[in-house]
Amino acid sequence: MKEIILCKYGEIALKGLNKSTFESMMVKTIKRRLRSAGEFKVTRSQSTLYVEPLGEDVDVDEYMERLSKVFGIVKLCRCGALEKDIRVICEKAPEYAAEALENARTFKVNAKRSDKAFPYKSPEICSELGGAILDKFPHLKVDVHDPDVTVTVEVREDHAFVHTDPIDGAGGIPVGSSGRAMLLLSGGIDSPVAGYMMARRGAVVEAIHFEAPPYTSDRARMKVESLAKLMTPWCGDIKFFCVPFTEIQLLLKKNCPEELFTILMRRLMMEIAQRVCDKEGDIQALITGESLGQVASQTMYAMVCTDAACRMPVFRPCVGMDKSEIVDIARKIGTFETSILPYEDCCTVFTPKHPKTRPSVEEVEKAQNSFDFEPYIQKAVEETTVTLIKNR
Ligand code: ATP
Ligand code: MG
Repeated sequence: MKEIILCKYGEIALKGLNKSTFESMMVKTIKRRLRSAGEFKVTRSQSTLYVEPLGEDVDVDEYMERLSKVFGIVKLCRCGALEKDIRVICEKAPEYAAEALENARTFKVNAKRSDKAFPYKSPEICSELGGAILDKFPHLKVDVHDPDVTVTVEVREDHAFVHTDPIDGAGGIPVGSSGRAMLLLSGGIDSPVAGYMMARRGAVVEAIHFEAPPYTSDRARMKVESLAKLMTPWCGDIKFFCVPFTEIQLLLKKNCPEELFTILMRRLMMEIAQRVCDKEGDIQALITGESLGQVASQTMYAMVCTDAACRMPVFRPCVGMDKSEIVDIARKIGTFETSILPYEDCCTVFTPKHPKTRPSVEEVEKAQNSFDFEPYIQKAVEETTVTLIKNR
């Protein structure tokens, strides 16, 4: 039986005049993400995208897996496509849903008839198909309120589609619909989650990483690149910028008060990130994985000092989350196991013993101005490398 995947969208169905722009972005994303899975066709109608795998031996599970990471889709239904004939529906739908029905005790049939020319009305489809299912699976009982399995038949233009319970899609809105942002990506747990969350709200995400060789190793950088790679099934391809940061860190250590070291380092990271964004062009914001109060550099006072060095808005989607909530998302998106691998980060290598938790902007600026970092900032920006981390 031919199978097709119906992708249903949530929020974007409500977008009014912009709806078709959002749909086009989603179609574009789907085409890109599925390209290497095999041939397929995507069509849209009635707030649903139809993805039809083509050719022999298609691995529909693989298509489902990839589609479950496309933002904008809230539900995915793997369907059998049947001829629009009630006899065919009654014969084939129970076969298609057999596995789910065998393992259930109760079921119901749900019919949607968007093709009003179909001669059977929804309640008639339900009773015909319900009867056919009971004939084939006599152990089942009908429960319309809380069934173990719902068999849905959607009679649309070309086919009647049959499916059992849909799976959750990734939610959010299509990548590309909100702008483009630069994620400060460390090797930790939080920043990949932050990037994922912004992509889910439609941002195209690029990443910048600060390394401090020889204090940080090649392996540490490779770990961060793997994290970026793990983000790509959700975010799409990521441009990965890598900044040599050792010289600036050593100068900071030598020339500035130790208790302000982390906050000054953070400000210099922001400064460099913004210049890399200027150079790259068309990037509207920065993203970090900071969470309020998590460490000394993430108190409100510290964030005020960091933001005082920023011309661009800084998004911190993890700001109000507990670590355990961030970890849950990291596990869900598949970055957690890599994030917890041991590694050195340029931050941890130079951590002061007693960082100030209530720095003021004046003292921080004064400390930063006591040394001329400008030539070193320029040099770091010039020496920043860029690689494209591809989804597949
Ligand atoms: P994470 O788990 O994301 O590393 P964290 O809890 O370890 O966060 P910090 O190390 O204080 O917190 O870093 C806070 C944020 O600063 C990170 O989420 C990240 O956005 C950014 N950041 C820290 N170190 C780096 C780095 N080496 N390169 C790029 N960004 C960094
Ligand atoms: Mg970190």
